[in-house]
Amino acid sequence: MLKDQDRIFTNLYGMHDRTLKGAQMRGHWDGTAGIIEKGRDWIVQQMKDSGLRGRGGAGFPTGLKWSFMPKESDGRPAYLVVNADESEPGTCKDREIMRHDPHTLIEGCLIASFAMNAHTCYIYIRGEYIREREALQAAIDEAYDAGLLGKNAAGSGWDFDLFLHHGAGAYICGEETALIESLEGKKGMPRMKPPFPAGAGLYGCPTTVNNVESIAVVPTILRRGADWFSSFGRPNNAGTKLFGISGHVNNPCVVEEAMSISFEELIDKHCGGIRGGWDNLKAVIPGGSSVPCVTGENMRDAIMDFDALKEKGSSLGTAAVIVMDKQTDIIKAIWRLSKFYKHESCGQCTPCREGTGWMMRVMDRLVKGEAEVEEIDMLLSVTKQVEGHTICALGDAAAWPIQGLIKNFREEIEDRIKAKRTGRMGAMAAE
Ligand code: SF4
Repeated sequence: MLKDQDRIFTNLYGMHDRTLKGAQMRGHWDGTAGIIEKGRDWIVQQMKDSGLRGRGGAGFPTGLKWSFMPKESDGRPAYLVVNADESEPGTCKDREIMRHDPHTLIEGCLIASFAMNAHTCYIYIRGEYIREREALQAAIDEAYDAGLLGKNAAGSGWDFDLFLHHGAGAYICGEETALIESLEGKKGMPRMKPPFPAGAGLYGCPTTVNNVESIAVVPTILRRGADWFSSFGRPNNAGTKLFGISGHVNNPCVVEEAMSISFEELIDKHCGGIRGGWDNLKAVIPGGSSVPCVTGENMRDAIMDFDALKEKGSSLGTAAVIVMDKQTDIIKAIWRLSKFYKHESCGQCTPCREGTGWMMRVMDRLVKGEAEVEEIDMLLSVTKQVEGHTICALGDAAAWPIQGLIKNFREEIEDRIKAKRTGRMGAMAAE
């Protein structure tokens, strides 16, 4: 289990003082100017050496992403944009940072922006996060008053402005290019890539979009060293990580742990075990609603990191672990996700606009057992036609949960269809 002295987020539960004074007492904003003095190349190299992979879901190496930004400006400004949209069902980790430990993020914004030659950073926060926005804005104001932001930020010689932008509550604005569009005041619709944001992002200028947690861990990594951070987890899966466990565990929680912790340890140590015991575990969605579910049996020996969960046919995603016990109507649970993705499709590409609705309608009937057994394969084939054929990853996100369902619980779907036909439909398929 991760030791307390190795935790980056020391006020995750809001038990301590969240003001600047409290944050400084816990070691934040310590020697920030000294870190910046070491220069851009040093910071980017440290981030590469730390092995940090983006915490927003895709797991792209953060240091490498930063290195895509132009070293010299061609006259255009550069921007850092922090993605605080956190709208993936099951994911609620960045919220804890913003409302309880906001200075980790603010200090990270300054250092990361400096490393990417950006004098301006925007944090785009989801519309529903009203209290989080208030807490974060109060912390930003405090940092300005203390000279940690603004001209000569934190005495570093770097002029830096940080703006908090409140979204309007659309899931798709968590997609980086849709987020940029929305920030520019337009409809939040994903852009075609290329060009990638590092070449032409916000206002057509070089931009990096990073997740809240990815930025909030930066100051501590630089203070304690890349080796310290990379000492946690397996190779290629380094560091500590916030896990958000919800669903049928005895004590749902958000907790910072070392990467590559076993699933059993995570659940037993922090969540008080599975509701009704381990034998009652039916399925787990290990990384937020868009990743395929894994059967409980298959999850028993799982390791919680990027590579191990990929081998299990799923993904670590945002590390939002959704646990479902045997009382769960898994078909209905996945139908609910289909409904969500159908609702959140921005509608600009046909496979997603039409496919999400089509998939949801078939799922509707599967929940009730009012379908033909052959339709299961037809549905699977439609998910394959949506996956990878759209502008952004929402198409994949809508397809994967259904693929996971069919792969792991085909028998249950078939049983329901047969039960309906023979009039044996029990209480399982809730209307
Ligand atoms: Fe919009 Fe869906 Fe296309 Fe993404 S995949 S751009 S959400 S229609």
